[in-house]
Amino acid sequence: MGLTIEQACPQCGAPIDLDEADLLIECPFCNVKSYLFSNDHFRYILPHKAPQKEILYIPYLRFKGSVYFCHDLSIGHRIVDITHIGLDFKEFPVSLGLRPQAMKLKFVSPDIDGKFLRFTLKAGDILAKAGNIASLQNTGKLLHRAYIGERLSIIYLPVYLENDTIIDAILNRPVLKVSKPYDILKELINKKAIRQLSFLPTLCPQCGWNLEGERDSIVLTCNNCGSIWEAKDGKFKQVHAFCVSGPAEDAVYLPFWKNSVQIHGVNINSFADFIRITNQPRILGKEWDEVEMSFWSPAFKIRPKIFLNLSRQFTVSQKDFRHKEGLPDKGLYPATLPLSEAQQAMKLILASSAIQKKNVFPYLGSIRFSIKSSSLLYLPFKETAHEMFQQDMGISINKNALNFGRQL
Ligand SMILES: [Zn+2]
Ligand SMILES: [Zn+2]
Repeated sequence: MGLTIEQACPQCGAPIDLDEADLLIECPFCNVKSYLFSNDHFRYILPHKAPQKEILYIPYLRFKGSVYFCHDLSIGHRIVDITHIGLDFKEFPVSLGLRPQAMKLKFVSPDIDGKFLRFTLKAGDILAKAGNIASLQNTGKLLHRAYIGERLSIIYLPVYLENDTIIDAILNRPVLKVSKPYDILKELINKKAIRQLSFLPTLCPQCGWNLEGERDSIVLTCNNCGSIWEAKDGKFKQVHAFCVSGPAEDAVYLPFWKNSVQIHGVNINSFADFIRITNQPRILGKEWDEVEMSFWSPAFKIRPKIFLNLSRQFTVSQKDFRHKEGLPDKGLYPATLPLSEAQQAMKLILASSAIQKKNVFPYLGSIRFSIKSSSLLYLPFKETAHEMFQQDMGISINKNALNFGRQL
């Protein structure tokens, strides 16, 4: 189950309930749309019930997403959904349990009184532990680990102090008795201002028209000038988008990221090299020496196993779709996986494409990519009762799997 966040409409102040996955919010009262943006991650508080007290906020890491790991000569993955305290404070509850799901959260905002404690643990260590893959690391054979399509946020638990007791400010119940708790906690108080969320107006930077998208879309589209935009560094940046025309009127267009790269650390300078090194059972095309290497991956969230399969099938086939610049008129499936995540997945796609694993796995630690160009491609799928079918590739995706992906 996801989280619910209560947020006041930035335009009229009316309360809006948001799902954790929501980025595009539309106020049901004034109909104004805004797009949520944070430079790093979203920060929430659990609202307290101790109005007269001086509140201290204890940080918890919230992670929901897919963890992938390459070890020995295989790739594993796991879906992880946790909260974990961000302080080295063993006496405190290590997780928030079901509490964030049981109440409405709020975004950290300037009108929240209280002091926020610093996050002192390393997120990577928490996640390694949570993915239960620390034991693999200890054998020294963990070659690569990646988090793809994750939601990473911080949830603050409110407490206050009474004599020698730390009290949970939601339940007004003691959590812990220690001598001089303030002396312990004051060292951890964050003196810097906590980063705030921004609300971007959803207007096309190119033509001023309203941008469109679904609630969880990571790109927004302009139906007036046909451009497409991703929020980055507090503003909308244009995404290079193409579409492949569908055979049918009612095609659904699923988005895929394509990253053309230069690879360092393994001898792949072209698509032909990739086919040779990964040892694909394909007859080498003469012209492939001239084709630059590109990695494809879904631009939507989906179970790890299907994500890797699709990425591998598209990358290995490197199909030269007949595409045109711009967007299809209708039937767009929302992109929910950011470009940066697709780029982080490239090493996994390379590893999972390798039939001759020994040619690739030992080099995973030192392989690096330079991105030459990135684009978003919308490919036509034919929708049937249970599946989406891509004719050129002969690939189908189960509709339940797509729906499940939107909950990830
Ligand atoms: Zn409003
Ligand atoms: Zn426009």
